[in-house]
Amino acid sequence: MNKKVKEKILKGVAASPGIAIGTPFNYVHETLNVSRDTVPDSEIESEILKYRNALDKTRENILEDKKNAAKRGGQEAAKIFDAHLLIIDDQVLIDEAVYFISSNNVQASYAVSKVMKDYQMEFEKLQNQYFSQRAFDIEDVCRRIIKNIISDSDKPDQSTVLKGKQIVISNNIFPSDTLNFNKDLILGIVTEFGGKTSHAAILSKSLEVPAVVGVTGISKYQNKISLLIVDGFSGKVIINPNASTFESYKKRQHEEQKQVEEDLKYAALASVTLDNVSVKIMSNIQSALEADSVIKWNSDGVGLFRTEFLFESSLSVLSEDDQFRIYSEVSEKLYPRHITIRLLDIGGDKLNDKMSIKEDNPFLGVRGMRLLFDHPELLRSHLRAILRASSKKNISIMLPFVSNISEITKTRAIFERVIKDLISEGYTVDEKMKIGIMVEVPSIVMIADAVAAKADFFSIGTNDLTQYVLAADRGNERVSGIYDSFHPAVIKMLDMTVRAAERRKIGVGICGQMAGYPIALPLLIGLGLRELSVTPFLVPAVKKIIRRLDTKECAALSKKCLKASSPKAVLTILSDFFEKKIGDHPLQ
Ligand code: PEP
Ligand code: MG
Repeated sequence: MNKKVKEKILKGVAASPGIAIGTPFNYVHETLNVSRDTVPDSEIESEILKYRNALDKTRENILEDKKNAAKRGGQEAAKIFDAHLLIIDDQVLIDEAVYFISSNNVQASYAVSKVMKDYQMEFEKLQNQYFSQRAFDIEDVCRRIIKNIISDSDKPDQSTVLKGKQIVISNNIFPSDTLNFNKDLILGIVTEFGGKTSHAAILSKSLEVPAVVGVTGISKYQNKISLLIVDGFSGKVIINPNASTFESYKKRQHEEQKQVEEDLKYAALASVTLDNVSVKIMSNIQSALEADSVIKWNSDGVGLFRTEFLFESSLSVLSEDDQFRIYSEVSEKLYPRHITIRLLDIGGDKLNDKMSIKEDNPFLGVRGMRLLFDHPELLRSHLRAILRASSKKNISIMLPFVSNISEITKTRAIFERVIKDLISEGYTVDEKMKIGIMVEVPSIVMIADAVAAKADFFSIGTNDLTQYVLAADRGNERVSGIYDSFHPAVIKMLDMTVRAAERRKIGVGICGQMAGYPIALPLLIGLGLRELSVTPFLVPAVKKIIRRLDTKECAALSKKCLKASSPKAVLTILSDFFEKKIGDHPLQ
């Protein structure tokens, strides 16, 4: 019975921004009937043959999906299917299924479901988001093999046929499902399971539709929803909104659309100050899919490509070829814009599970370059992939979490060897590729002149610099009042870094969150920064403010801030300035 419920708000993980309002499409995975009936000895061989044929057919299906995914969503979406090929070609699993059929006298479909289920449970037991996503991949592959055993029809799954524009609600979305939906009809996505790196999250970003994942309890309501709101900014899902909620979201949705249209107009304007000084507004991205956003928001290029997320959403450590394809795709898509690829910044709060590092104090432990030096093969394949993708000469490399000059010289030596190898193997590479560093550890700031003699550019990571200067964990709510990028000590460090870069004539930019704070912009310009790297959709907002600034006024402002003795004093100076110069004026 379709008993509708009153307004109900559920909370999940905001996976893709935007607001969707619409009717639900309840996506339930087709049930596959697997029989436990025993088969006589005489039929064992034919069951094994059925299994082997189904494996071949499934492999073909996956390869086909991989091709389609590459066409629709780029290399990253296609990569998901590489993980599926690994599962299907896992010899241990194949042998186990064959053994299970013959030793238990069961049908092939039952053996597959049993063996795969055990394997899947091993992953689920590990209770971590990365591995539960892998368990889900196994389930997808397993279902496809079983389907191919029990039917030889190729007809598409009827359960994915949307009736007009709708919001898809599901327990989770299998990678193979994503290609069956008509993407023009999906308004939004809501799933019961999954986190930021789940396939549903990747898919929704690539489709640019609002999505909330990991909404515990949503499936309970699946048949009781007449209207649904997906708030992909806050991670809220509103079931059967009442009139006032509906009106307020309708208004927000309208404002959001208007804002996007207005921002797009600003995106087309030049990024120059009132006194005609150009400021580059670059983007921070973490996947190849976001290259489209860099173009959409008219950003000058990529100031920070965080590579760790590519590794996070992959089944195994990404191979050199996988990486090469992703970096080439971004390089080609964005050419002639420039891209700065940051070497894997694993450690701290990122990817500890996968690399099996357990440390009491991970933020002060084996992170960034320290971890890469501990895994020379990983560093080598990483550098090889980047260099192989560099034939267009629009890529630079950036080293994360550098605390000593020796880390730069050591990387350079490895880099030179990798170049030699690649050339001798016949590759065309950018031999003059620039190698810069993240300035995010205070020691580097204190010896910035000497560091600048070894690095081609600096990019200031205020997120980490703030935590290391103030001894306040960036992710710990209890010290969030202490963690403050407007602390005069942080601002002095920014000043020291820019001055050293100017003296040594190397490039300097900022890619921490601070570069996207409107109130910080006059200060950053005043300190002499001419390259800011922010989330792509913030590019127009940053541009709007830059176009209202005069560099001489900003320089005077930054001098005042450098004399202040507390974050509060800095903020007062900045908000007075902002109100006077920008707040009261129409932006143009
Ligand atoms: C930073 O530390 O400011 C930065 C940009 O890098 P991440 O946030 O990835 O550590
Ligand atoms: Mg950092």
